[in-house]
Amino acid sequence: MIQFNNITKIYNGVPVIRDFTARIDKGEFVFISGPSGSGKSTLLKLLFCSERPDNGQILFQDEDLSAIRRSRIPYIRRTIGFVFQDSMLLTYRTVFENIALALRVTGFPKGEMDHRVQETLRLVGMGDKVYTLPSALSGGEQQKVAIARAIVNDPLVLVADEPAGNLDIDSAWEVFQILEKINRTGTTIVIATHNYELVRRMQKRVISIKN
Ligand code: ADP
Repeated sequence: MIQFNNITKIYNGVPVIRDFTARIDKGEFVFISGPSGSGKSTLLKLLFCSERPDNGQILFQDEDLSAIRRSRIPYIRRTIGFVFQDSMLLTYRTVFENIALALRVTGFPKGEMDHRVQETLRLVGMGDKVYTLPSALSGGEQQKVAIARAIVNDPLVLVADEPAGNLDIDSAWEVFQILEKINRTGTTIVIATHNYELVRRMQKRVISIKN
């Protein structure tokens, strides 16, 4: 489903990623791990088409993202859900509105919106916080809402960049359990993290970045 072929990415004359090759199959749950600054976020940005490689090829569903037309990028992004270290929820909108907005931008039928939002919130264990404002939620709860927002459009892949980076160990573990549950529904999961302890506990495939 995702294939990085000999990717090199250079910033200011310095190669941040050099000759990186990896393959991720449909339905997998994969960690990309490595120390801070090793290029994990950059790899995810390449997948999300917000950066392009200087060399090599990224195939997503057999489409070459390194040579993609700009007009095609929004269509690719609709098939990828993204979760960041900070939940980046809209502060003055309820949990419901934060998620409904993600559906609205894709022209999702209004009549089915309520049901879809509630169902997604239930999946992440936030069914009882639908009309709460993000400021009244814990960090872990905010991340669960961010995950709900990322999956509400039913993406092929959920990509998360240090999704538990700001959380205590129990909340972090809970977030990873939810990601595993989403994986069981068929969504491919790719997580970048330097939290080796959690990676070890999860017992999933790990793509390690060295040097
Ligand atoms: P990680 O996610 O593993 O912490 P990053 O992909 O964020 O690593 O960064 C890898 C390296 O690339 C770092 O040295 C970082 O400073 C550098 N870098 C990332 N983005 C840019 C950018 N837009 N311009 C210049 N350097 C960058």
